[in-house]
Amino acid sequence: MSETLENLSSETRQFPPPAELAANANVTAEAYEQAGADRLAFWATQAERLVWAKKWDQVLDWSNPPFAKWFVGGELNIAYNCVDRHVEAGNGDKVAIHWEGEPGDSRTVTYSELLTSVSQAANTLTDLGVVAGDRVMIYLPMIPEAAVAMLACARIGATHSVVFGGFSVDALATRIQDAAAKVVITADGGYRRGKPSALKPTVDEAVARTESIEHVLVVRRTGQDVAWTEKDKWWHETVEQAGTTHDAQPFDAEHPLFILYTSGTTGKPKGILHTTGGYLTQTSYTHHAVFDLKPETDVYWCTADIGWVTGHSYIVYGPLSNGATQVMYEGTPDTPDRGRFWQIVDKYKVSILYTAPTLIRTMMKWGDDIPAKYDLSSLRVLGSVGEPINPEAWMWYREHVGRERTPIVDTWWQTETGAIMISPLPGVTATKPGSAMTALPGISSDVVDDQAQSVPDGGGGFLVLREPWPSMLRTIWGDDKRFLETYWSRFGAGSGSSSTEWIYFAGDGAKKDEDGALWLLGRVDDVMLVSGHNISTTEVESALVSHPSVAEAAVVGATDPTTGQAIVAFTIPRGNVETEGEAGEALIQELRNHVSKTLGPIAKPRQIMLVAELPKTRSGKIMRRLLRDVAEKRSLGDVTTLQDSTVMDLISSGMNTAKSED
Ligand code: ATP
Ligand code: MG
Repeated sequence: MSETLENLSSETRQFPPPAELAANANVTAEAYEQAGADRLAFWATQAERLVWAKKWDQVLDWSNPPFAKWFVGGELNIAYNCVDRHVEAGNGDKVAIHWEGEPGDSRTVTYSELLTSVSQAANTLTDLGVVAGDRVMIYLPMIPEAAVAMLACARIGATHSVVFGGFSVDALATRIQDAAAKVVITADGGYRRGKPSALKPTVDEAVARTESIEHVLVVRRTGQDVAWTEKDKWWHETVEQAGTTHDAQPFDAEHPLFILYTSGTTGKPKGILHTTGGYLTQTSYTHHAVFDLKPETDVYWCTADIGWVTGHSYIVYGPLSNGATQVMYEGTPDTPDRGRFWQIVDKYKVSILYTAPTLIRTMMKWGDDIPAKYDLSSLRVLGSVGEPINPEAWMWYREHVGRERTPIVDTWWQTETGAIMISPLPGVTATKPGSAMTALPGISSDVVDDQAQSVPDGGGGFLVLREPWPSMLRTIWGDDKRFLETYWSRFGAGSGSSSTEWIYFAGDGAKKDEDGALWLLGRVDDVMLVSGHNISTTEVESALVSHPSVAEAAVVGATDPTTGQAIVAFTIPRGNVETEGEAGEALIQELRNHVSKTLGPIAKPRQIMLVAELPKTRSGKIMRRLLRDVAEKRSLGDVTTLQDSTVMDLISSGMNTAKSED
């Protein structure tokens, strides 16, 4: 059997870029030609957008694959590029961050103020004995100090590792240990869902369990009581008292910038290592190209947490290197009410919004009337990242948020890729709802069968990257072997085949439609094998979400005596839908038939459960492997990255009482 993925859905809607945006776009179709003619020259041109203390001798050294070196011999300081140079250019009074606290307090940080804070934090870290190459953990709420801490580390060449503020003692301790970090930067707490949520006790316990931490820097945010140890120092008594100037030294283009652990959707998180010159080149370029950022007039808002790669690349390094003005929000989207996001868009006149499908689907569930109450006319570009966006969620985003005017960029990338890889360009691409469309200029993606042969248009298979890219991961921290095995051993030279081509396998399935546009189909580990057909979870989920009664769906393959695997779906109905008793039974039958009609009888779910919630990682991604455990009545696998552990108890008990269908 040739292992390719079925292509079941089809999409005929298409939206050309708005004429005015296209006429003034930062990047035009010419970029694809330039990159196609000479990929390395194209990336060298993009690297010139930055200020280098010493120019590189060689754009790419790929002599020891898969260990890449970009801009070999070049030197630069990342913090200088993100902060100092904007002040030197006369933009010191420009707002870098409009910060909005959850309780409604706010702060404005200009580029000059950011420079002062970053310099002070760099001086304090140096006083604490942190030198280039040391690791610093950052465990903070969404406050400006999070960006300051990251930039201060970058400024002195310390490697930061940000851990999401919702993670447990275990998660923090294993990351501290893996990185052998010297310092933790944290806060007393942050505001979540209307109340202060403590962070310091988690740090205290994690530090006590590990050996390497010498100092803990504590930002006072909530004012709640904290226990104090001899390792602790208040941020306001150190950083805010430190010298306000700091001379930034350049670092080698391949100097380690950060370690970030993946979100753990599929299992144990991996410590992904990113370096300096290539990373900043690609995050800066893609932020400029994909969001069409005009630093003089745009107000940009990325709703991700700084603890995820999206927060690294598209809150800190991309936007700040481009001199953007951005919004940063501390809290949850339903505090004090479900209109909070739209109130913030209105308040700051946000023009570019970058968020995740999980949030869009939640907003769909809450109802169209909520965004309708706000003035969203400032928006001109909308972005999505993190999971496949179902065509119906895309259409909802376009209609109820973009008011049918703004282009949507669905951006595919990973912690490992460091920056956006596959996405429309808002002034160039005619988009299709649910498709990430094409690889960006300078990126060579492909969809292949199990022999690494490109599938034809209309076919599905494995998503791969055929050429190295500037912001690629350099390794898994401390584990080159796992790096090779995880990403390079499936296809090409690293698989032991006679091929000399090194092919990066992303772990995701994808298809090319009849026009060659790319559609992400979820993780290949989740693919369902039903009567000899490889069916993607994404297509069945999108078919369910296209029914007007459904807000969100997750499907898995469960062992089945007749078909090998059978499709089991977990579905969240929209807010106003009746699900009790016979109405629920009727809806289930209707949904099964709806999928069968949309995708063909092969994709008809054996069983559908109506649920109130789905298991998600803390970054909001659906964890299908846990649902598979439930569907096959096994005990649950690793749940440490789960957002809410009670969700699984509810779903499991529902599953045990559910009837099997025909
Ligand atoms: P782990 O690797 O530990 O399982 P993770 O893959 O969820 O965690 P991330 O690096 O945060 O960690 O997520 C990258 C993945 O998210 C991609 O491989 C893909 O599966 C999914 N993804 C991100 N953006 C998109 C998108 N626009 N369309 C479809 N899928 C996306
Ligand atoms: Mg992954």
